[in-house]
Amino acid sequence: MPFCKKFYSLGLGCAKNQVDSERAAAELLSADFKIAKSPKESDVILINTCGFIESAKEESIDAILSILKNKKAKQKAIIYGCLSQRYGKELAKEIPEADFWLGNYHTGMLLETLGFESQAKSCKANPPRRIRNFEYPHHAYLKIAEGCNRACSFCAIPAIRGKQVSQSIENLVNEAKQLEENGVQELSLIAQDLSSYGTDLYKKASLQPLLEALLKNTKIPWLRLMYLYPEHITDGLLNLMAKEPRICKYADIPIQHASDKMLKLMRRKYTAADLRALLHKMRESVPGITLRTTVLLGFPGETHSDFEELMNLAEEIRFEHLGGFIWSPEEGTSAMKLKEEQVAVETARLRLDALIERQEEISAEKNEALVGKTLDVILDSIAEESEFHFYARTQGNALETDNIVRILEGSGNIGEIRKAKIVDAEAHELDAVLLD
Ligand code: SF4
Repeated sequence: MPFCKKFYSLGLGCAKNQVDSERAAAELLSADFKIAKSPKESDVILINTCGFIESAKEESIDAILSILKNKKAKQKAIIYGCLSQRYGKELAKEIPEADFWLGNYHTGMLLETLGFESQAKSCKANPPRRIRNFEYPHHAYLKIAEGCNRACSFCAIPAIRGKQVSQSIENLVNEAKQLEENGVQELSLIAQDLSSYGTDLYKKASLQPLLEALLKNTKIPWLRLMYLYPEHITDGLLNLMAKEPRICKYADIPIQHASDKMLKLMRRKYTAADLRALLHKMRESVPGITLRTTVLLGFPGETHSDFEELMNLAEEIRFEHLGGFIWSPEEGTSAMKLKEEQVAVETARLRLDALIERQEEISAEKNEALVGKTLDVILDSIAEESEFHFYARTQGNALETDNIVRILEGSGNIGEIRKAKIVDAEAHELDAVLLD
């Protein structure tokens, strides 16, 4: 095929997909492609899709249709990622405008598909540096493992992404060093199940040694832990979080539910008592820790009393951040075979709304308690066309996930970590002034 010069890339879905989109862009850049600002200006269109739940699938399909409706015959469109891995064959028949339906991303696959065999080979031998996040160049995700060895009954991820494959500590340290050289100030560690990192490669959970290696070999000021399954969270890991100021006092720990019956049906490997003990221990061992969680409502068999158990736990733990989903039947998951009574979507919605309503109050109270305190904040972006100077975040808030800090006074540069005094608070925003 003729050499194509410009590519347009669209990444959908989670942070793990974002890392793949950045790698995919780096792959084409390494073969002298240039970035096109719009699909119209491109020779190659890349769409990295998400197929996690029904709404994500719909979003991916809508995006594909909307971008490809104006595609010209000489342009090449490559669809890859979860949705394509799962339904590529079927979708290829329904959306013939796309030229290639590839699965999960691996280095070299795009160049190979486009006929650049030798560049693909050198790319595989020496994976190119990931490009920087254009919007937030001071932040990067570090994907420490792919896939998942668990079998949660509602989740299609193991079927889509396969068994867990951890990256070696050495490779991850090298990637982190490159990102540091590129100006990254905050590194968010991600995987499907961060706490099981290394159980495949090193035969034991190895998040703590990985963190120690990252601390020793880089000077990146903020390291953040996302998606910790509530197992293998060791005392050693918590002690390290407590004593090391460069590890954000933050843990994203999706609990899904808090009724033993539901946890069993969901095939989670812990009980409500285990959860309580762990979450209290995290609060005690890591003073000031921010806890984020995600819950799943309306799973088959859920009764009002199961829901109340979840409400009670949320009330007791007082998570700083809590998000929720309503269960939808996903092909290839064992939950599809459950004989338990189905929960009407309206009932699930009412339960989720009630939980979120209470959470809003807790979040507001938690934020109000910060007023008058001096905290470190990272400056994320200039607040254009507003009374504020910057949008920033504290260690307790993950990028594009949690609350923002609106900086009312002070000057600085994007990516700087500065002292700020919190002067006002709402449920999802803090107002602050820079101090130094
Ligand atoms: S831990 Fe459970 S929910 Fe998370 S990716 Fe693995 S199977 Fe899915």
